[in-house]
Amino acid sequence: MNRTRRLRRNPFIRDMVRETKLSLDDFIYPLFIVEGEDIKREISSMRGVYHFSIDKVLDEIKEIMDLGIKSIILFGIPNDKDSIGSEAYSSQGIIQRAIGEIKKKFPEIYIVTDVCMCEYTSHGHCGIVLDNGDVDNDKTLPYLGKIALSHAEAGADMVAPSDMMDGRVGYIRKILDENGFEMIPIMAYSAKYASAFYGPFREAAASAPQWGDRRSYQMDPANSNEAIREVMYDIEEGADIVMVKPALSYLDIIRRVKDNFRMPIAAYNVSGEYSMIKNAIENGIVGEEIIMEVLTSIKRAGADIIISYFAKDVAKSFK
Ligand SMILES: [Zn+2]
Repeated sequence: MNRTRRLRRNPFIRDMVRETKLSLDDFIYPLFIVEGEDIKREISSMRGVYHFSIDKVLDEIKEIMDLGIKSIILFGIPNDKDSIGSEAYSSQGIIQRAIGEIKKKFPEIYIVTDVCMCEYTSHGHCGIVLDNGDVDNDKTLPYLGKIALSHAEAGADMVAPSDMMDGRVGYIRKILDENGFEMIPIMAYSAKYASAFYGPFREAAASAPQWGDRRSYQMDPANSNEAIREVMYDIEEGADIVMVKPALSYLDIIRRVKDNFRMPIAAYNVSGEYSMIKNAIENGIVGEEIIMEVLTSIKRAGADIIISYFAKDVAKSFK
C-alpha cells in the first residue's frame, strides 16, 4: 500500500522532505519615507507599518539588518505635488536624499526604488495626464526615465518601474545605459493588476487617483494570457526580474510566468493582503502561523523574490 503518511510521522522527516523553504534571502522589505524629522507614524490601515522621516528610517534599517533582512524597496511621499511629479526626479527629492543618507550609514543594504509618478502627481495618476483626462503613455516615458536615472545617480542598486506604461522598460534601460548605469538591474512590475488589494497602500503612499481609476493602464484581473504578453514584452525590452502584483489572487499567474520564461520572478504581497491577515490575527480569527503558510504559497507558486510587509515577522520567526 502506498503510505504517504510515512514521511509525515515526525518533524525530522517532514523537514527533510519539505519542498519549499522560505529564506530571508527571498525578501524585500518595503519602507515609506516622508519629509520632516523625528517621524515614526503608524499607518492606520496597515498595523505595524510606519511612515518614517529619513533620520528615523535609519534606525529602522539598523533593526531590519540586525534581523537579517538584506534588501529594501523605498516609496517616497513628498510634501509638494504637481501635475508632472517634479519631486520624483529632483536630485533633492525625498527618495534621492533618503538613498544618500541610507547608503552613507549602511552601504551594504540593497536598495530597490519604486519608479512611478503617482505619489508625486497632484492628480495621483501614474503618468502625464492630458486635458481630456487620459494618461498619455509616450509623454510619460521621459519622466520615468528621469526618475529612474535620478535614483541610480543617488545610489540605488536596482530600479523598479510600477507605472504600467508600454515601452517603459526599454526606455529606462536606454537612459540608464547612456548614463553609465548599465549594471543597474530593472525589476519590472510586469503583470500589475488593477486591484482592490492596493487600498491600504494608497493611504500609506497618499497616492489615490483624484478621479477615475487605473484600469486604462493596469491589467484586468480576469486576464492571464495578457500577463504572459506583458512579461514577454518586458523581457524583450531588457527587464532583469519580472513581477506579478498582487500575489495571492494571482498565484496562477506567477506559476504560468515561471513555467513560460524561467526568469527570476518577484511577487508583491500587497498592502490589502497584509492588512486582511494582520487584522484577522489581531482579532483572534486565525493563528499567526498563517503568515508563513501564505508566504510559502507565494514561493511554491514560483516566486523567487517576495516583497512583503511581513518580512520582519518572517525574520523574527527564524530567530
Ligand atoms: Zn503609480
